[in-house]
Amino acid sequence: MEHIRCLIIGSGPAGYTAAIYAGRANLAPVLYEGLQPGGQLTTTTEVENYPGYPEGVAGPDLMEDLRKQAERFGADLRNATAVKSDLSQAPYRITFDDQSVVEADTVIIATGATAKYLGLDDEKKYAGMGVSACATCDGFFYRKKTVAVVGGGDTACEEATYLSGLASKVYLLVRKPFLRASRIMQERVLENPKIEVLFEHNVEGLFGENGVEGAHVVKRQGEADEKHYDLAIDGFFLGIGHRPNSEIFKPWINTDETGYILTEGDSPRTGIPGVYAAGDVADPHYRQAITAAASGCKAAIEAEHYLMEHKM
Ligand code: NDP
Repeated sequence: MEHIRCLIIGSGPAGYTAAIYAGRANLAPVLYEGLQPGGQLTTTTEVENYPGYPEGVAGPDLMEDLRKQAERFGADLRNATAVKSDLSQAPYRITFDDQSVVEADTVIIATGATAKYLGLDDEKKYAGMGVSACATCDGFFYRKKTVAVVGGGDTACEEATYLSGLASKVYLLVRKPFLRASRIMQERVLENPKIEVLFEHNVEGLFGENGVEGAHVVKRQGEADEKHYDLAIDGFFLGIGHRPNSEIFKPWINTDETGYILTEGDSPRTGIPGVYAAGDVADPHYRQAITAAASGCKAAIEAEHYLMEHKM
């Protein structure tokens, strides 16, 4: 069985940054890129808040640059997805979807999170053309425009509040007759004159010629007074939560109730010696490319220290 000193699973900013640091530290890192090489940023257009790019950078270009930088320092990048883990004892065993199994002294889990979508065909049709699951990434394109955010939890309220600083009007589409968000977030939304909360609203589809121009919505679905109508909007934001990609590690690793991997303090240590979690898979709060990259860096430094201490 192939033996790896530093195994990195995932190819977002956390994974590639871990590979850059581990490569420069001579750990011979092997990185498995997973289902979506480059991760969530490959689905956005312009990234304007990643330091070092004063003119902004296209999400896929940023990821390609990080990838090349990891390769430059000798990271072995592979195209397979981890499907099973055995972290019961070191060296740790990981199985991939191409049937290969490797054992590793250190494992950096950087498998990210996936934004939840409603599952409408139109969300795919208008991806990058008015549909987004990240207000901080894409909100800037909707200055003085009208947008809708779906969801009634903290994510949706936070996105709506953020967008209200840019857009001229924000609709918050909530399927229940109440918000589930924390009280303070609710107050912020309900007191904001730019945000109109539409309770008991579901979205059936989107429409528009060269991008989103509106949403087909239904009010009080299934009730006697059910009403279908169209809402004119320029942008459609999902705020219905994220799913951390931690499933295959759950038998061994502590997660919160949503599945985010719990780490020790603000370190990437998982509690299993030599196993670290970096990026969105362990971060329900910040979820930014730069914070993911930073935690990937920390994980690689931790792995280096661990290997040195154990003379591996
Ligand atoms: P939540 O699960 O708390 O809320 C999801 C919201 O989306 C709910 O209102 C839910 O409606 C709605 N929703 C889910 N599926 C659909 C659907 N198919 N159609 C329409 N609406 C749907 O997720 P969040 O991401 O908001 O929060 C996750 C965790 O992260 C929470 O613990 C939250 O407190 C935390 N968080 C904290 C923040 C902060 O403190 N600043 C910021 C963001 C998140 P329903 O109520 O009907 O189920």
